[in-house]
Amino acid sequence: MSHVLEIEGLRAGVAGGGGREILRGVDLTVRSGEVHAVMGPNGSGKSTLAHVVMGRPGYEVLGGSVRLDGEDVLAMTPYERAQAGLFLTLQYPTEVPGVSLQELLSYALAAAGRDPEGVDLRIEAEAARLDLDARLLGRALNVDLSGGEKKKNETLQLAVLNPAIAVLDELDSGLDVDALRSCARRIEAATETGLGVLAITHYSRLLHELRADHVHVLAKGMIVRSGGPELAETLEQDGYVGLVGPELANEDESVKGRPGETETFADLFGGDL
Ligand code: ADP
Ligand code: MG
Repeated sequence: MSHVLEIEGLRAGVAGGGGREILRGVDLTVRSGEVHAVMGPNGSGKSTLAHVVMGRPGYEVLGGSVRLDGEDVLAMTPYERAQAGLFLTLQYPTEVPGVSLQELLSYALAAAGRDPEGVDLRIEAEAARLDLDARLLGRALNVDLSGGEKKKNETLQLAVLNPAIAVLDELDSGLDVDALRSCARRIEAATETGLGVLAITHYSRLLHELRADHVHVLAKGMIVRSGGPELAETLEQDGYVGLVGPELANEDESVKGRPGETETFADLFGGDL
């Protein structure tokens, strides 16, 4: 079955932000099997876009629409969005003490009306494919996992749940090169059987493994350039300042030092810690 995520004129800010727009009219259409990369400097609104599409609390939609196969996504709870076939991998995966991967996935499959039978075997198969140590599978979700292991864990969930459209928020942050390759290849394989991807990233290295069909540059809450994969290469050579000019490329001062957004040691040094 073919799916389509349509984002039209999306405007959004933080709840209680007095109407200040972080997203200032975003248009994007992602279809089954397509990979759309959204690239942008820090503070351009990338995470806000991912969170608003998925319905994370704390944001306010100020205009526009998001539809999945014609259904109004913005009217759904995050839970209903997941059931409808949307999946988000977080920039900073959360630790969930007391809940195992198997419990989470069995519950999610059952909630979507699918059979959780044999989920443990699928988890093992996907862990092997992602080169994720099977001994980690029994731990509570993301607890005591390295940055790379957490992202593999997110990718494993994606592979087992097999959503219609996946939104990846900086899948490449906190990952070493080998882990990035495993995750990106697994997701690339999923696109061959119909997954549509909205891959949000700051760097083009993710796109060396996960081949984008379309690349969009987000700056100050608007898509200012769209093109094919060559746009990511231009960006790599020219940087954001060279591509969109200093006015649009300048990182918003307010983003610095905000809790949860400060870069980890692994982000800074590329290590898988
Ligand atoms: P990116 O992911 O592209 O780095 P974000 O979407 O995280 O950017 O942030 C975009 C802008 O919105 C920044 O100026 C940031 O400070 C602001 N912002 C995002 N979330 C919040 C929040 N919860 N409270 C206040 N400002 C926020
Ligand atoms: Mg972000």
